Order: sequence, then C-alpha cells, then structure tokens
Amino acid sequence: MSRSATATIHLHALRGNLARVRSLAEGAKVMAVVKADAYGHGLERCARALGDADAFGVASIADGLRLRAAGHRQRIVVLSGPDAASDLAEMRRLQLEAVIHHESQLAMLEAERGGDPLKVWLKLDTGMHRLGFARGRAAELHTRLRALPAVDPAIVLMTHFASSDEFDNDLTARQVQCFLDATQGLPGERTLSNSAGMLGWPQARGNWIRVGGLLYGLSVAEGKTGADFGFAPAMTLTTRLVAINPVARGERVGYGATWECPQDMRIGVAAIGYGDGYPRSAKSGTPVLIGGAPAAVIGRVSMDLLTLDLREAPDANVGDVVTLWGPQLPVEVIADHAGTIAYELTCGVTRRVLFAEDGA
Ligand SMILES: *Cc1c(COP(=O)(O)O)cnc(C)c1O
Repeated sequence: MSRSATATIHLHALRGNLARVRSLAEGAKVMAVVKADAYGHGLERCARALGDADAFGVASIADGLRLRAAGHRQRIVVLSGPDAASDLAEMRRLQLEAVIHHESQLAMLEAERGGDPLKVWLKLDTGMHRLGFARGRAAELHTRLRALPAVDPAIVLMTHFASSDEFDNDLTARQVQCFLDATQGLPGERTLSNSAGMLGWPQARGNWIRVGGLLYGLSVAEGKTGADFGFAPAMTLTTRLVAINPVARGERVGYGATWECPQDMRIGVAAIGYGDGYPRSAKSGTPVLIGGAPAAVIGRVSMDLLTLDLREAPDANVGDVVTLWGPQLPVEVIADHAGTIAYELTCGVTRRVLFAEDGA
C-alpha cells in the first residue's frame, strides 16, 4: 500500500499573505524568511510563490545555494552568518549577505584579503540574549566593519525581539528604545521586527521587516490563529482512513491501552502518525475532519497510524480523506492540543509525506 499522507501547499495563500504583509508594512521592505525549508512548506515552491519579496532570509548557506540555483536574484541574508572562514568565499560566490553577531565572525572578516566586499547586517542584542553584540558596542563595531576592505560599507543595523508576540509586554518597547539609542547617528538601514513585531509594534517597522510565520498563515500570537489576522493557511495535511473497526464498550485502544471505549462504537484508523510529523503529544480529543464531519484522536498516536473516535462521523468509510489541519481546521488548534506551537508542527512534517501544490 502506498501511503496517503499528503501536505498540500496553497500557493495562492502564500501570494495573498505576502501582499497583506506588504500592505501592513507601510513601505518597509519585506524579507521573506524561508528557513527550515520554508517552515516545512518546501523552500523552492515557496520562494517561487514569494518571488516578489525584496529579500529572502535563510538559516544556512546551503539554502542560499538552493535559492540561487532556482534563479532567484534578490538579496539573500544568512541569518546567523558565516560559521567558518571558508564560508566567506562561498557567500561571496553566491552573493549571500551575512548577519554578523559575534566576535569570531569579526575576526574572520578582519583576516580576509581581497574579493568582492560582503554585505553585512550587524546584529545587536537589545535584551533577547541569544545572538548579537552588546548594544553598547554598536558605534565601535560599525566603524570597525566599515573600515574593512572585505565589507560593503552599507551595513544594515539589526536586532531581534524576544516577546513581540505578547502585544502588551513592554519588553518589546524597551528593546526598541535600546536599539534606537544604541544606533543613534549611525548611517544605514534598520531592521527590528519579525511577524509579530510587524503586527504589534508599528514603531519598530524600520526599513526592513523580516517575516516568516505570517507568510505561511501561521499564528504569531498565543490564543490566535493566522486567520484571526487575515492571513490564510498555506498547508493542508490530509490522509485516508484505512480501517474502521467495531470495538465494544470497556475495551481499550492503542499502545498503552490509554483510552477506554465508553460504549460500543466504531474506531477509525488513519494512515498518519509521528513518523509523518503528526505530533505524538496530541492528546485524546484532538480534532480531525472526515469529509466535513468532526472526529477526534483517541489513544496514543503511533508512528504510522492514528486511531479516531467516529461517533460523530457516522457516514465515514474506509478510503475517506481525513484532514489533520488546514483552512477548515487551524493548525494552531492542533498545536494547542499537543502542547506546542503551529511553527513546530509545519516544520516537523517529514520527508515521507507526499507534497502537492494547489494554485499556479
Ligand atoms: C525566524 C526569524 C524571523 C522570522 O520570524 P517570524 O516570527 O516567523 O516572522 C525574523 N528574524 C530572524 C532573525 C529570524 O531568525
């Protein structure tokens, strides 16, 4: 039997979401963040649909290479920059731009001789404490970088928010102020915001916004869906029912026998599991759709299969399409039931799932 698990990527949703980002960005340039295989949606197909973006953001040189091979000529920014001196030549060859966030990268650039100057995004830590130079060093580093023959003097100043998804958290306002203070008087473009920053913090628009989640229609704020902000989900995950079995009241279902039938009932078995990226942590009661009818996960998710309560889907038949998430069933709802976020679910769809596209 061939496996039925299919992720359908809605190209028109990607395009529409980019257009909506542009209208909300109020003139800021848009970097489409396509790291992690475009949040699990497929790098090449998404980059094609998002071809109007002003730049792409990637996590690796390898992804930059894939984008160049696909013919994209935009600016491409490697969001954590070079890891080793040998990366610099490769980045130059591919005309990739480097986020510079650490002393070790500065040393690599200072040791460079010759070659086309590299475009650099200088990342400052304004309170997230993950990547970035201490903000007090902004002016000194800016001067040092601009003096290097290996560096293009048009440096973009950058920071990243820790809590911009909480629209009432004043950490973001403090980060914005820190960034403005630290970079005051320095020439060059600025970029502060990710998706949530763009939605919640208009004062942080800068010259570039760096948007990932919203392009895929994913929620960027707790308790909300992407659709709540007018963005369309770009992925539908489906499979088929491969068995329906009558199970008697009091019998238990699945590994660990965790779920007990409260009555005689039909149990559906769908061909998808954690081997496909459906989260094992999805609890009994996590919704799915069979046709338009609701059904619910019961018992433990196994590697290849999922058991379903069919009491509310009396017409379900073997062979029916089961929707795990998509426009009719927000991935955010599944993430909630699984104790995670939508980003992790779309990123986690595995290679054995068939990918399809809809919309040209
Ligand atoms: C991933 C990433 C983004 C995009 O974040 P979203 O929340 O998906 O919009 C922006 N900036 C940086 C530095 C990132 O690593």
